[in-house]
Amino acid sequence: MQTRGNTLRKIIDGLEAGDWSARELVTAYAARAKDGQKGTHAFVDVHEESALAAAEESDRRRAGGESRSRFDGVPIAVKDNLMVAGHRATAGSAILKDYVAPYDATVVDRLKRAGGIVIGKTNMDEFAMGSSTETSFFGPSRNPWDTERVPGGSSGGSVVAVAEGSAPAALGSDTGGSVRQPAALCGVVGLKPTYGRVSRYGLMATASSLDQIGPITRTVEDAALLLREIEGRDSNDSTSLEIKNEWRLPDSLPTSVRGLRIGLPKEYFVSGMEPGVEAAVRAAADRLAELGAELKEVELPHSKYALAVYYVLMPCEVSANLARFDGIRYGRREPAETLEGTYRRSRGSGFGREVRRRIMIGTYALSSGYYDAYYLRAMKVRRLIANDFARAFSDVDCILTPTTPTVAWKLGEMSDDPLSMYLQDIYTVSVNVAGLPAITFPCGLSEGLPVGVQLIGRQFDEKTILGAAHAYETADGGFGRYLPPEVA
Ligand code: GLN
Repeated sequence: MQTRGNTLRKIIDGLEAGDWSARELVTAYAARAKDGQKGTHAFVDVHEESALAAAEESDRRRAGGESRSRFDGVPIAVKDNLMVAGHRATAGSAILKDYVAPYDATVVDRLKRAGGIVIGKTNMDEFAMGSSTETSFFGPSRNPWDTERVPGGSSGGSVVAVAEGSAPAALGSDTGGSVRQPAALCGVVGLKPTYGRVSRYGLMATASSLDQIGPITRTVEDAALLLREIEGRDSNDSTSLEIKNEWRLPDSLPTSVRGLRIGLPKEYFVSGMEPGVEAAVRAAADRLAELGAELKEVELPHSKYALAVYYVLMPCEVSANLARFDGIRYGRREPAETLEGTYRRSRGSGFGREVRRRIMIGTYALSSGYYDAYYLRAMKVRRLIANDFARAFSDVDCILTPTTPTVAWKLGEMSDDPLSMYLQDIYTVSVNVAGLPAITFPCGLSEGLPVGVQLIGRQFDEKTILGAAHAYETADGGFGRYLPPEVA
């Protein structure tokens, strides 16, 4: 069967109508995923055997009229920092090259209970640090729109899988933009839920106060479908919350934005953005206005500090979270004469350059004498950034911004220049700093490459941003035209 361009909705409807079996789906997607491993490199591992076994069970259930849910038999790709019991979980790192997950992450468990099938683990920047998937120990992934270019990161593999059609949908994680930024650069939809909406249990922690797991899909409706399966309170993650009635997503998303007040932050439309990106994003705002939304300028005056705040807090949390990879408890061990020697050798050879850089920055910023100047200060500015959004949301229902300042760049172009790479996150990090939900969806092409537009919502108001994005998508013809050329 054809795997390219399918939506999750189409896969689900086809299973229900008997147009295809779970076995046919898994066979086709796994074959496509394996084909791509040498080329675009979306997958670190394809779980062909376990996925086929699960597909056969799913088909038997369906034949017996005992399907678990509409997701029964649906193949999903999962980022390699999430636990899938019995399979490798490497987080793109040499230190976990041979680490096998002993349990399922809550999101994976929920998908499996619904009958969903994990078809494989996707490539990523090492421990989710990066914006290009080039820091992966397993080598970079490539953008299917132009294989000389990066797909973005850190969930690059998940995004490539959805864009090229080696998975109908995927899970990624977003600490400062890792779902949204690659989704924008590859022309698909990416949703970062509100902090606390989705359990982080079984997600390898990068920066615990910023991390959220999010859906990567071809359409906005698909993102809502997948979010519904994974969201909600989990006793294994004390930061996850019960979904209240007013937070629930409607069965079908609205197709109108009439009367919706959309804020355009003046601080986000400044120099540094590529003209083609700016034009596409402004055109998307105008289109929403044509469809009945009201555009309003808003102010987010502390935006200029967002990147600095993120790149202090994020490494601080990284330095604490990654202390567990000591060569004793998990993963690679390089024995030496002394315990400290074993730590040094295991960590020194197991972690790549970017991860070491962040551990050092974080350790420095947390050390006595510097804590007040860096960590504490950044926490205070974090509050100011959150307050800016709260103020803006008293005037508007959601906020529209670019997702990235540029389209996808060439592989290697920025890999030796961490500052330029960090600047790619300028429009995405403040959303994590403030714990808000945000979605990116395609809004045009610039120089033949996809551009994404971002809608940011109030806490737990995924409904509004999904609804507005869906209205745009419906008017835009269902994103059918954002299909990359066929590559392997
Ligand atoms: N690119 C950002 C970083 O390198 C975001 C990463 C992420 O969201 N995991 O930190």
